[in-house]
Amino acid sequence: MSYSLMIHGGAGALEDLKYEASEAEFKASVTAILEQGRQRLEAGAAALDVVEYCVNLLEDNPLYNAGKGAVLNENGQVEMDAALMEGKELKAGAIACIKNIKNPISLARLVLEQSSHVMLVAEGAMEFAKFCNVEPYPDDYFITESRIKQLKEAQAAGVMMLDHEKIKPAQKLGTVGAVARDSHGNLAAATSTGGLVNKRWGRVGDTPVIGAGVFADNETCAVSATGYGEQFLRTVLSKTISDFVYFKGMDAAAAAEAGIEYLVAKVNGDGGVIVIDKSGRCAAAQSTSGLIHGWIEAGGEAHCKLG
Ligand code: ASP
Repeated sequence: MSYSLMIHGGAGALEDLKYEASEAEFKASVTAILEQGRQRLEAGAAALDVVEYCVNLLEDNPLYNAGKGAVLNENGQVEMDAALMEGKELKAGAIACIKNIKNPISLARLVLEQSSHVMLVAEGAMEFAKFCNVEPYPDDYFITESRIKQLKEAQAAGVMMLDHEKIKPAQKLGTVGAVARDSHGNLAAATSTGGLVNKRWGRVGDTPVIGAGVFADNETCAVSATGYGEQFLRTVLSKTISDFVYFKGMDAAAAAEAGIEYLVAKVNGDGGVIVIDKSGRCAAAQSTSGLIHGWIEAGGEAHCKLG
């Protein structure tokens, strides 16, 4: 049985990518991460391990809005959300509103493996990290010059915004995510974010909410979302996409399109999704002009698209 892998680095307006880096830099990083994920899948690694690994690489790269280089909230702080899920037993782990954790997705994995809960937040999640011997990183590891500049611009314009977009009512998102189907046919999904630029402290978006920003079920598909979290929460978008597969028999492409149509029709939503279905087919759809993403379908060539 062949494997498939998809990753994303957020949705937004493509013309604004130069804000952080050139298109070539985004393409090079997406392709390199896919190839590293491929090595693991080829060696027989589990989908859950591979999505965690790929999201770790995205979190460590300051180009993206997760981990190092995450966007800043209204107080100039990094507060992060992350979640992951596997499709065999529907096990999931999530953390929200955490600070000083280098790899939030790995803390979510620890919640899945070592707690009897699905989601831990804020101080309780930090206490759990300590209990698991996860070493805290200093604030200056996460905060980059370009994020300080971006926050100042958002505050001057009086807006709260997504990562990859202009100062205008529609803005940019740089959340990261991965979905995979391993050679045993198991699906998994993971999503990690710093949230929205200039968000209120204590705000939690869709990313760590199972069914909103992430979902996986071996009988349907694995989904990772990026966009205005409030809109994805209100439409429970990742589970809605899974339901299109479950109840309507759609494949990844049809379900991803139908999901984005639903997001736009119901809440005029901005964002995108990556989806791998139970047969290993890969698809992406978005309502923003850009969605940084890449995929390897059925063990084939790696592809990368920014639009
Ligand atoms: N969905 C994320 C949030 O609202 C933002 C993003 O995708 O960039 O927190």
